[in-house]
Amino acid sequence: MNADELWKRVPQAKRIVVKVGSSTLAREGRLRPEKFTDLARDVSALFEDGRQVVVVTSGAITAGAHRLGWSHNGRTIREKQAAASVGQIGLVELYQRRFARLDRNVGQVLLTRAGLEDRERFLNARRTMLELLRLGVVPIVNENDTVATEEIRFGDNDNLAATIVSVVAADLLVILTDVEGLYERAPTAEEPKPPLIATVDAITPGIERAASGAGTRFGSGGMITKLQAVRNAAASGAATILCHGRLRGVLGRLMAGERHGTLFAPGERLRGRKHWLAFTAKTRGRIVIDEGAERAIVERGRSLLPAGVVRVEGTFRIGDSVACVNARGQEVARGLASYSSADVAQIAGRATKEIERVLGSSNGDEIIHRDDLVLLRDA
Ligand code: GLU
Repeated sequence: MNADELWKRVPQAKRIVVKVGSSTLAREGRLRPEKFTDLARDVSALFEDGRQVVVVTSGAITAGAHRLGWSHNGRTIREKQAAASVGQIGLVELYQRRFARLDRNVGQVLLTRAGLEDRERFLNARRTMLELLRLGVVPIVNENDTVATEEIRFGDNDNLAATIVSVVAADLLVILTDVEGLYERAPTAEEPKPPLIATVDAITPGIERAASGAGTRFGSGGMITKLQAVRNAAASGAATILCHGRLRGVLGRLMAGERHGTLFAPGERLRGRKHWLAFTAKTRGRIVIDEGAERAIVERGRSLLPAGVVRVEGTFRIGDSVACVNARGQEVARGLASYSSADVAQIAGRATKEIERVLGSSNGDEIIHRDDLVLLRDA
């Protein structure tokens, strides 16, 4: 699809996830109430227009640190978690007050990656959020920083927002940040505003280079995590717009057809469970596969059989999500194991008919069935 057609589709978005970064909501460590006023107006107008909007907000840690009288944002994870606990209250309160002026309710949704890794909880989060939207309530989502330890956290709200796109099956993700969009080159002192890339059809190595040069100054996630979020959203079938948060009424303007920032095309949609498997579920271990198995999986859409397994790394149980990597260590696919790591180790490299003899019983011919497998590399 060409750039014009992609931009023309933006106003058709019905369900939108908006991620607002601390760089937009706070200045010098304090929340900026006027920004919440703007956002509430902008979002409410979209609801009135028959659309549904989920807000993924940052700012809890910043607000908490300010309330605690700190000159920093928390120096340790513990301090940050404590600050988030204090700050989240004021943060949602501010949203609540601003939306109340417009007669609209908000609902607080605090999530962790670990929670959404459980398919049942993921589906439960979906049901609740869709119910909120049906009621015309604006879900205000943040990571549950207070309980989210290093291993279980999203860590940045860009990735959280992209996950929410798949939770609610949104058609557009808007990331409001402190840059104009994706620049062709990293900004420098001599060239603070390099040319902007207005439309990105696919994330090519060139696009990755443009993003990796962009440094870590932008938001907590940086441009690399934003690209991850874009990929994740694209695989849910959603487009992403990355643009500056300072523009008043930017959501309404985008829906009116104005072009701001960088628009990333939606990708081919991975259906529900497979998307969750690829982007949300946490892998427990790795299965190293040989070249023949890699070709069978990637080019011919086959299941993973014991014969193609070289070895197992880590431990996993039946039903856990595992990574399939090739000899070069590249992750080829992810899937749900039909055998535990101990069993896979015993049948690795063997013919399917040997499974029962070696293990004493069989869960079927496949280590990972095709239906439980998603490809992470193209043929
Ligand atoms: N959850 C964090 C907070 O509310 C923000 C993380 C982020 O901005 O990426 O402070």
